[in-house]
Amino acid sequence: MSRIFSGIQPSGELHIGNYLGAVKNWTHLQHEFETIICVVDYHAITGRYEPDQLRARRREMAVSLLAAGIDPNVASLFVQSQVPEHTELAWIFNTVTPLGELERQTQFKEKSAKQESVNAGILNYPVLQAADILLYRADKVPVGEDQVQHLELSRVVARRWNSTFGLKTGRTTEDGAEERESFFPEPEPLLTPTRRIMGLDGATKMSKSLGNTIGLMETPEAIWAKLRPAATDPARIRRTDPGNPEICNVYHIHKGFSSPETVLHVAHQCRTAGWGCLDCKKVLAESMETELVPIRNRAAELAASPQSVDEALHAGATHCRTLARATMDAVRERMGF
Ligand code: SF4
Repeated sequence: MSRIFSGIQPSGELHIGNYLGAVKNWTHLQHEFETIICVVDYHAITGRYEPDQLRARRREMAVSLLAAGIDPNVASLFVQSQVPEHTELAWIFNTVTPLGELERQTQFKEKSAKQESVNAGILNYPVLQAADILLYRADKVPVGEDQVQHLELSRVVARRWNSTFGLKTGRTTEDGAEERESFFPEPEPLLTPTRRIMGLDGATKMSKSLGNTIGLMETPEAIWAKLRPAATDPARIRRTDPGNPEICNVYHIHKGFSSPETVLHVAHQCRTAGWGCLDCKKVLAESMETELVPIRNRAAELAASPQSVDEALHAGATHCRTLARATMDAVRERMGF
């Protein structure tokens, strides 16, 4: 069975952007692949943060993931800092990663443009990401289109390490060089089917730091207060103006929560001005409630039983540590340690 690896920042409770853009997909993939899901707390410290808040958010994220349907009996869920081999492999990979590749990363350029002082962690973030994936020699990584560039770097790192430290096979390559084993597989992207959900402003990515999210655990009243004024097709100024659902973020959220029949009906009612946007949003609010009520109930049960969350994370970390140690034993051996 192929192995997949996914990481998520410990940003607290899930919002519908990361639920529809990633986590909901993982709940299906966990039954098709050997699945490893990691709450990447080492990634979360490249910016300023409060230690107590990090601890709390890590836990909230674990509760959210379990409530959303990650099954610890099927997938391995753990916290990155519980498996220290992640940072050991990241250091090793730093020594085979071309600096130019890191400086070209879009995320680095964006973050460094916004900050006066940039720490080396922001530059090396994709190296730790490569270590996260390759530590488990994962074959595939579920990603959105905006993360394909990072995954490409993991492929470059795997290729460079293999070509230097992979054991010689005794054969020669087409260009006459000594062939080496591909100890680290070059991970393939598994593109997430849901298109990226924008924030409620319809203009920027849905993100907690931008304050444009709807949390999975929010009450129906709080959700409606945010959904009601959410941006739609700007061409629909009057109730009688026909709209284009493809450019409307509300329509794309419908695709995540409503049945296929409802989604078709929404598109028709939008294009023919059969509905106003408020009618459309009311139907969406109902679809969201149908899906979110069981998630909220499970989250309340988990919050009342913290030892079950600890047990799930502990079991995940124990399993992943075993896999990580096997990889590192082979890496150390091949590198002369
Ligand atoms: S009717 Fe629905 S899909 Fe169409 S613009 Fe309004 S909110 Fe968007």
